[in-house]
Amino acid sequence: MQVVILGSGSPIPAPDRAGPSTLVRTSAGDLLFDAGRGVLLRAAAAFSGAVAFKAVFLTHLHSDHITDLNDIITTRWAMSFVPTPLTVYGPIGTAALVTRTEAMLEQDIGYRLAHHEGLNWNPDTIVTEVSEGVVFEEGDVRITVAPSDHAPVHPTVAYRIDDGGRSVVIAGDTIPCPGLDRLAVGADALVHTVIRRDQIEALGVPRLIDVLDYHSTAPQAGNTAERAGVGTLVLTHMVPPVQPGGEQEWIDQARGEFAGEIVLAEDLTTIDLPPIDQ
Ligand SMILES: [Zn+2]
Repeated sequence: MQVVILGSGSPIPAPDRAGPSTLVRTSAGDLLFDAGRGVLLRAAAAFSGAVAFKAVFLTHLHSDHITDLNDIITTRWAMSFVPTPLTVYGPIGTAALVTRTEAMLEQDIGYRLAHHEGLNWNPDTIVTEVSEGVVFEEGDVRITVAPSDHAPVHPTVAYRIDDGGRSVVIAGDTIPCPGLDRLAVGADALVHTVIRRDQIEALGVPRLIDVLDYHSTAPQAGNTAERAGVGTLVLTHMVPPVQPGGEQEWIDQARGEFAGEIVLAEDLTTIDLPPIDQ
């Protein structure tokens, strides 16, 4: 299994960080977790893409995590030579999101159907709404869901992917919570979105201070990783954006709580988790 951080950014546009999305390459195929700004650009850099995705999994429906789902739907449809339904898993609300996204694309779908003789089917998206438990099993790959806590955004979920005796957890946006604790126990890697309370409070911008309510700080992510006995903590979705030369501060803040390996993600940061039980 291989984990590729496609987008390490946040809602705040940054020139070198795409929006939140993580590619998990498994023995069952390429699985995409969240679909933030620029996801297909970074997927192309990782030699994957809309047609290659076995399934897309959404942690929650905040815009920065889903804004390019429409690009995946269109690109997969328009670049397939036979009908190739897209499989999407997400919290309750995902089916409505997909229905509305396809409605948004109605004009484009009409233009392309009228223009391309060999394209005579509509985009087809198969949605499974998930809340808890095992939601995907194929070969050695098992995906387990637990509720996260991103209140007042609700519902939100975290995912654990097991393959070949290795495991990674995609926390999404959450404060420390029992669901994530259960999911992360013994995981090889934990991909966790993080913010900096000290920097946000110093900036003093009310709209930014609001985000303190429902995100984990780097020390909180470190504490979650430590309690769960995680191997590698991957920090991503940093708010405010990491200042040049400020990378080590983020790591040091998590290091205060966590003794394992810590990676501050950049776009295309890759974690290799080779199978151990085969
Ligand atoms: Zn969010």
